[in-house]
Amino acid sequence: MTKDMSKPKSVVAINGDTANESIDFIRRIINDDNKSNKHQGRIATRFPPEPNGYLHIGHAKSICLNFGIAKEYKGTCNLRFDDTNPATEEVEYIDNIINDVHWLGFSETALYYTSDYYQQLYDYAELLVQKGKAFVCDLSAQETRAYRGTLKEPGRDSPYRNRTIAENLDLFRRMRSGEFADGSRTLRAKIDMNSPNLNMRDPVMYRVKRQPHPRTGDTWCIYPMYDYAHPLSDAIEGITHSICTLEFEAHRPLYDWFIVDFISSSKPQQIEFARLNLSYTIMSKRKLKQLVDEKHVSGWNDPRMPTLAGLRRRGYTPSSIHRFAELIGVAKADSIVDFGMLEYALRQDLENNARRVMCVLKPLKIVITNWDTGKCEIEAPYFPEDPDKLGTRQLPIEREIFIDADDFLEDPPKKFFRLAPLREVRLRYGYIIKCEQVIKDASGNIVELHCTYDPATRGGKTPDGRKVKGTIHWVAASQALPVEVRLYDRLFTVDNPGEGGSNFLSQLNPQSLEIVKSALAEPSLASAQLGENYQFERCGYFCLDSDSKPDALIFNRTVTLKDSWAKIIKKSDQE
Ligand code: ATP
Ligand code: MG
Repeated sequence: MTKDMSKPKSVVAINGDTANESIDFIRRIINDDNKSNKHQGRIATRFPPEPNGYLHIGHAKSICLNFGIAKEYKGTCNLRFDDTNPATEEVEYIDNIINDVHWLGFSETALYYTSDYYQQLYDYAELLVQKGKAFVCDLSAQETRAYRGTLKEPGRDSPYRNRTIAENLDLFRRMRSGEFADGSRTLRAKIDMNSPNLNMRDPVMYRVKRQPHPRTGDTWCIYPMYDYAHPLSDAIEGITHSICTLEFEAHRPLYDWFIVDFISSSKPQQIEFARLNLSYTIMSKRKLKQLVDEKHVSGWNDPRMPTLAGLRRRGYTPSSIHRFAELIGVAKADSIVDFGMLEYALRQDLENNARRVMCVLKPLKIVITNWDTGKCEIEAPYFPEDPDKLGTRQLPIEREIFIDADDFLEDPPKKFFRLAPLREVRLRYGYIIKCEQVIKDASGNIVELHCTYDPATRGGKTPDGRKVKGTIHWVAASQALPVEVRLYDRLFTVDNPGEGGSNFLSQLNPQSLEIVKSALAEPSLASAQLGENYQFERCGYFCLDSDSKPDALIFNRTVTLKDSWAKIIKKSDQE
């Protein structure tokens, strides 16, 4: 896999207009199918998650693709739970997956479960037995593997391959009625043990497994395999385009083989696309589950997780994820997309929609020694670039305020435009202040700064035309809201965790979470709600965390302000 740095190039083309060359290969296939009237103009897709974990940003790519196509072509898109493995599946996952799809702004045409089709799948399997296209095999799992051969060697026929149709039918029915032990028999498709494609070497269709199912309980003790259940479920629902990830490419002949005799109005067509890989994180549900189970993160919705639940809690918006899906496009070659691209899409949204407020992460007290007006208030817009857009709030200002400790240097270099002894700085929306005195404790630590303010500079204006370059954020001391702030960094220290069999757990970033316990926010944040996005001016974008209590607010940094991807995209656009 290569790092695909050329991606942003296509971005502009995709969004400019839908000129033919900017349409992805899947939409091109659909356009051709529509032209040839292949499905009588009908477009039906589905999103088929296995409920064995939470959805992640990779799934979002598939959701945007399947639901997006249905929307664009006025077709349908079903949400279908591929619940054929009761051992790993849980209702909690089902509920969260539905919630995530809806959060992204999509609604399914119909909600189905593969388990809805168990009877139909079973009946059709009997039909395949009756046609001599499937047989009951007594080989153990280990023996089946040994008989299967390798990429270099052909497989060998199972000794049970030539059972009569009557015998197969009898045994299959008895498998179903629970006469045989788990793992003792399977139903296999009778295809070709010499096929160069391992998937075609008499693949298993059903296994015996006594495991209660969340939806069908004890009704079944045999369960269909994915390769059999999936194409048939598609055919039953009348899916026209069954879009899946690249690793299923070699399964396509089997997909077609299973549905060839199935009576349905139109045959679904499997189309494969490259799955999303994102740098500095992982997309494997098994590994994500391990992070949760072993408590490397606080849960599936830990704001560092690439899950939709995690991203939502971190402050990602549905539209930023749609935008990201648009930016990365759909291709047939695997690549790793830079995490910065996701953040780029997010910033584009937040830049235009997040309220601007002030919060001081590392408070340093300022006493404005010539302040003699008590408390007063300044009306400040939530969105200064367009003051009417998001309204205003009253910012209290008074004799004592806090600024960020990093905005003061006792011995500053020449180009430091913030506060320093005898230098001036502008308080955002406020006045210009000048540092007159640095107060220190016995050990020489700075305790507070004594400043004077210039009453003629309300709103940061300088009527005399003097130059004050720096503007810093601040909060009024007596009304500041103590809050906890959680700063996040990449979850892993390497861009492809687990690459080459390396231990992904040892690549976790020990600095991925920094908790700032004693930040001070402006009072308007007392009414912050979950799901709202804020820019803490000069600090980044933030949102309220779900761990917050009314008297103990916690804010997550969604993303920093810096945006290196905008430049890269601009540059590639000019090339
Ligand atoms: P597994 O099958 O190992 O449990 P999975 O990630 O394939 O994991 P599914 O629930 O089967 O999970 O995925 C549902 C759908 O989402 C499938 O159609 C799959 O192709 C798609 N999908 C999963 N991961 C990605 C990804 N990283 N990028 C794009 N699509 C994905
Ligand atoms: Mg899968």
